[in-house]
Amino acid sequence: MSQKSAIHYYDDGDIILMVEDTSFCVHKKYLSLASRIFNDMCATCSQSYESQLPIINLSDDSATAFEELLSFLYPSKWVRITWDNVGQFLQFADKYEIVNVLAASEDFLEQHFVENPLKSLVLADSFRFKNVYKESSKLVFNKLPSLKNSEEFKQLSIVTGFSLLSRYIDYINGIGLLDPLELLEGFTHEFLCNRTAHENDMIRSFTNLIKNEIKVCPALSPSRTLKILMSCEITEGTKHCISNFEKLHLPGKLKSHFGEFEPMTNEKRKYGVGVFNFLFIELKDA
Ligand SMILES: [Zn+2]
Repeated sequence: MSQKSAIHYYDDGDIILMVEDTSFCVHKKYLSLASRIFNDMCATCSQSYESQLPIINLSDDSATAFEELLSFLYPSKWVRITWDNVGQFLQFADKYEIVNVLAASEDFLEQHFVENPLKSLVLADSFRFKNVYKESSKLVFNKLPSLKNSEEFKQLSIVTGFSLLSRYIDYINGIGLLDPLELLEGFTHEFLCNRTAHENDMIRSFTNLIKNEIKVCPALSPSRTLKILMSCEITEGTKHCISNFEKLHLPGKLKSHFGEFEPMTNEKRKYGVGVFNFLFIELKDA
């Protein structure tokens, strides 16, 4: 025995959708507007008896989830995308090619990925959302040791899981290989700078920093490590020379040592000590 949906069973509906044991009597026009697949289904479905409405069986879907999808599609109803339904909405959007559900779900992740970076990365990975993928990977890197054994981590594609882990291993190796002389290499001092005093100060300061604050166990997050290295206090040398080193030379050296990093996209316009940098991975074009 089937039951009628309490929310989407309209007297003037012109098609019946059967999902599990629930029947939805809805309007072809809303289905057709939302999705090409629904449009094709409506066009090809046949009426079983003259007086009866055509019936479509959507056997793989859950009735509760489908009811929520219809509430999203119907202009008279209203449903919010949340962490509880975004995964299901994306599956519907993908299966039935519902462009506005796909866009609204991506938009939700753009706004909320900070609250749940790993889940955002899993969904961005499955549905190929480039920006969400990159931004959420930045936050995942900072918690990778605790996230890598979670159930959610296993839902990542092999490529993404591997990219995260191999970049993280490179980061850990990079800490082991940090060398103050390498950070100074190739830096040109300004004419007025006392080069020897400036260099000695930098070598001493970086040596202490690396030994006491960076090479610790358990390892610091990538953001923390970069932050500490980039705020190393140097007092010898001219102001201009110190600033050249900090703002131009050091970030370049750290990138060739640890690989690419950058702030969160919405923080890029801010400058100064408050801004954190992050490792990241990007979706490759398929
Ligand atoms: Zn100098």
